[in-house]
Amino acid sequence: MTLRDARERRVRTGGVELCVAELGDPEQPTVVLVHGYPDSKEVWSEVAARLADRFHVVLYDVRGHGRSTAPRPLRGGFTLAKLTDDFLAVVDAVSPDRPVHLVGHDWGSVQAWEFVTVARTEGRIASFTSISGPSLDHFGHWIGARVKRPTPRRVGQLLGQGAKSWYVYLLHTPVLPELAWRGPLGKRWPKMLERVERVPGGDYPTGSLPSDAAHGAWLYRDNVRARLRRPRPDAYAHAPVQLITPQGDAFLSERLYDDLDRWVPQLTRRTLPARHWVPRTRPDQVAAWIEEFVTSVAGGRPAPAATGRHADRFAGQLVLVTGAGSGIGRATAFAFAEAGARVIAVDRDAEAAARTAELARLAGAAGAWSEPADVSDEQAMEKLAEKVHHEHGVLDVLVNNAGIGLSGSFFATTADDWRKVLDVNLWGVIHGCRLFGARMAERGQGGHIVNIASAAAYQPSRALPAYSTSKAAVLMLSECLRAELASQGIGVTAVCPGFVNTDITSTARFTGVDEAEQERRRQRSARLYGLRNYPPEKVATAVLDAVIGNKAVVPVTPEARAARLLSRVAPGLLRRIARVEPRL
Ligand code: NAD
Repeated sequence: MTLRDARERRVRTGGVELCVAELGDPEQPTVVLVHGYPDSKEVWSEVAARLADRFHVVLYDVRGHGRSTAPRPLRGGFTLAKLTDDFLAVVDAVSPDRPVHLVGHDWGSVQAWEFVTVARTEGRIASFTSISGPSLDHFGHWIGARVKRPTPRRVGQLLGQGAKSWYVYLLHTPVLPELAWRGPLGKRWPKMLERVERVPGGDYPTGSLPSDAAHGAWLYRDNVRARLRRPRPDAYAHAPVQLITPQGDAFLSERLYDDLDRWVPQLTRRTLPARHWVPRTRPDQVAAWIEEFVTSVAGGRPAPAATGRHADRFAGQLVLVTGAGSGIGRATAFAFAEAGARVIAVDRDAEAAARTAELARLAGAAGAWSEPADVSDEQAMEKLAEKVHHEHGVLDVLVNNAGIGLSGSFFATTADDWRKVLDVNLWGVIHGCRLFGARMAERGQGGHIVNIASAAAYQPSRALPAYSTSKAAVLMLSECLRAELASQGIGVTAVCPGFVNTDITSTARFTGVDEAEQERRRQRSARLYGLRNYPPEKVATAVLDAVIGNKAVVPVTPEARAARLLSRVAPGLLRRIARVEPRL
């Protein structure tokens, strides 16, 4: 179903006529989508089409936008009180008997915050999903609190948001914005959206853009200064709220929502790697979250605030982990699953990957799939990337974890041994970064790549020349890629664990010795790792924290941290330790 199939009606209110479109079965719960600035209801067309199977979807052009008429005079015609009148008039027309589920983006969300926090709409709103548009009252209090107690961090937050609000100051100047929008800016805007925000072209924005933008300047002039100066003291939400925050929003800082729990008794937080225009760039994810939230509220169930740690950050995100059939990879897949992510478990051991996916589902994943693939096989990885992109879309997080161990002196390591370890440990990571990272970059909405290196990457050792070289290469690859992708909002992290109790010891190879000796060494190192007993779950936690904090290099385990420190302050000492022959 598309907006072209929509039923249209006109609703008169306060001297204007609003153009209202409806999709889907009116018997189903009603979802009202409110657009922002400079937009018209068409910004929602992709999301509306995805929701129309399950819900009665209602969109309207805000006064002065799209095919709704503008108030005369314009000045004073866009106050939040009048916008609330409009909303109530639309709701009276489309859902007179049942409260609606409200969704707002940008200024649609700013005004919807007003709707959900004033008394006269009580009982008319069942839930509110807010995307990229804060309550002006909450914003006013946020500023007030920081001005009153200006710690360096809080001043930084104020300055950060102040810099992102440059366009708000411009919109307060008289006439200029109107001239710009009706002139060159209006013409160039669609291309700018495509280039800067990576909004796909097509039937959006519509031809009404210049006049939408010119009229909409009054949204700012009629409300912003007055509200920020005198925010209402009682702007409490009277319906459950789902807050969706794009991490790469050029106009709003994530910190703006730090104090939100104070105003919203039932708050569900969602974050996604994306820029500002998520209704256009991430319609699948946005529609899925709206559906999940509305369904839970309509069904009387508690809001789906996923239970796991970091659910606010990863719920619904698409995460692929290689080497997910065992050890660190499996634990990482579970940690993302517990946070409500959609998880793709990849391993050359198909059964082990399938088991991880099965358990991930039980752990709370929003979806879990397994894919058998050998990361060192370029063609297999190409096929895997094609399949994943086709069936699930672009990854939000990629964890290149698959790796193998190899121990033995340099001269005991054959060319074939070198090839095997580099093929998996280095080329596996290169294939993953190339094939999945390219699509992440092309999407232009950000994301994160985690490469599991090792403390061996910066700690030389006479016993692990090939393994350490492969991991040092992964560390440097991660650093280079991080530099290259920073401007696209894609983070890259190298995680460097020390000794972690996994199966790696039982599969690692020891060169230059016969089978029996090799088996003996495996067993002995497995025993030593067992005694050290550092659980892979702790590495998984570090992986999630690294993504959230966008960290560059993360040593995990005390010995890995100590070696990292030594490599900086006393590399000579580390070199001497490297000469010690380990007794296995
Ligand atoms: P593990 O042996 O328990 O798990 C590795 C998984 O990767 C296995 O399921 C295996 O089937 C899979 N795998 C191996 N080669 C593959 C390939 N070519 N294609 C697809 N899958 C493949 O080992 P682990 O300890 O969990 O190791 C995970 C990563 O952590 C590795 O990169 C390893 O080098 C690194 N690491 C481990 C330790 C440690 O002490 N365990 C320390 C530092 C770094």
